[in-house]
Amino acid sequence: MAAAIYLDNNATTPVAPEVFEAMVPWLRDEYGNPSSAYALGRRAAAALAEARERVAALVGCHPESLLFTSCGTESINTAILSCLALDPDRRHIITSAVEHSATIKLCEFLAQRGYEITWLPVDSRGRLDPGACAAAIHEETALVSLLWANNETGVLFPIEEIAAITAAKKIPLHVDAVQAVGKLPLNFDSLGAQFLSLSGHKLHAPKGVAALAVSRKIRFSPLLRGSQEEGRRGGTQNVASIVGMGVAATLAAETSHHERIRDLRDRLEQCALRDIPGAEVNGDTEHRLPNTTSLAFDGIESEGALVLLDRSGLYCSAGSACTTGSIHPSHVLRAMGYSNERARASLRFSLSRLTTETDINRACQILPEAVARLRALRPTGSPVVAAAPAAP
Ligand code: PLP
Repeated sequence: MAAAIYLDNNATTPVAPEVFEAMVPWLRDEYGNPSSAYALGRRAAAALAEARERVAALVGCHPESLLFTSCGTESINTAILSCLALDPDRRHIITSAVEHSATIKLCEFLAQRGYEITWLPVDSRGRLDPGACAAAIHEETALVSLLWANNETGVLFPIEEIAAITAAKKIPLHVDAVQAVGKLPLNFDSLGAQFLSLSGHKLHAPKGVAALAVSRKIRFSPLLRGSQEEGRRGGTQNVASIVGMGVAATLAAETSHHERIRDLRDRLEQCALRDIPGAEVNGDTEHRLPNTTSLAFDGIESEGALVLLDRSGLYCSAGSACTTGSIHPSHVLRAMGYSNERARASLRFSLSRLTTETDINRACQILPEAVARLRALRPTGSPVVAAAPAAP
C-alpha cells in the first residue's frame, strides 16, 4: 500500500528525523532536572539555554524574552491573562471573529465574567481592517490579541500595521503566531508587539511544547506560579521536547524550503481549480501563508469527503482540527460571509517541507476523482451550494 499523503500540517506536523534524534539522549540518559546544581542538571540547563537561543533566533527576539510553555493554548492564555491581571481596571479586549478556539474560548469565558470583548469582523476574503481595530480601542482596553496567520485559510492579518496602532495608543498587543512561525520571516523585537505565541508541533517538533515571547519592556504576571523560567512559568521544563523544538526552530529558519512549499501548494490549487468544475479558493490569495489552501467544492459535504479521501490515503481537514468531528460549519468561513453549505463543502490542505512532489501529484489525481464520486452520490434535486460572496 502506498504511503499516506499527509496534507494536514496546520493541524500538526510529523516530528522531523533530526528533531527525534536530538531528543533521544534527553529521554534516555540525560534525565537531570535543569534546576539541579550537579552536572546532570547543569547539562539539562545548558540544553535549555541552547534551545532558547535557537527559538529566539527564529522569532527574532532576545533569548531572555522567551518562556517555554506546554502548548500554544497555554501561551495565548498566559499573554491575555497577564494583561488583565496587571491592569484590573481595564476590562476590554479586542480580538477577531476568526481566532483559534484557544482565544475564542478564553474570551467567551471572560465575557461571562463581565469583560467587554470586541470581535473584529473580517471581509469576504478573510482580511481584517486595521482601521476597525484602531476605532475599537478605548480607555478601558486592556489588550489587542490577534492571529498573524489564520489556521484554516492561511490568510495573514496586517500585524505590522496593527502593532503601529497599538504602540501609538500604548495598548499591549499579543500576536498568535502559532501558524506563522517557521512559515514567514518575522522579527518580534522590531515588530513592536508585547507578546507572541508559537507552538512546537506546528514546526516538526513534538506536541506538548511551545513558547511565549514577552517583551522585556512590559510587566508580566505568570499563569503558572513556580520558580522555573525565572519565576515566569512554573513547572519543571520538558527538556527533551524543548531540545527538539530548538532543533526544529533551526531547521525552520532555513528559508530555502518556503518557495518549494509555495510551488507545490500552488500546483495542488491549480490542479483542483482546473480539474474540478466549480472549485473555488476560500480567502485572500495574495496575503496568505505559502503552505495553505482552503478550497470549496460545491455539492459535496466535507465530512463525507474526509472519509473517502482517508480511504485513498489522503489526509486533509474540514476546518481546524479542533472543530473536526463536530458538525458545526467553520466559524472562520462563516465570519467571511459564506453560507453554511459552502463552509461545509470546504476542505483545507496544508503542506510542510516534508511534503514531496509525488505527494502532490497523487493528491492531484485523487482529489478530482473523490469530488466527482461524491457529487455523483448526491441525491438528485439536492441543492448545489450558494455562490461565494462577491469580494469588495
Ligand atoms: N493558535 C493557532 C492559530 C493554532 O492553529 C493552534 C493550533 O491549532 C493554536 C493556537 C493552539 O496551539 P496548541 O495546539 O499548541 O495548543
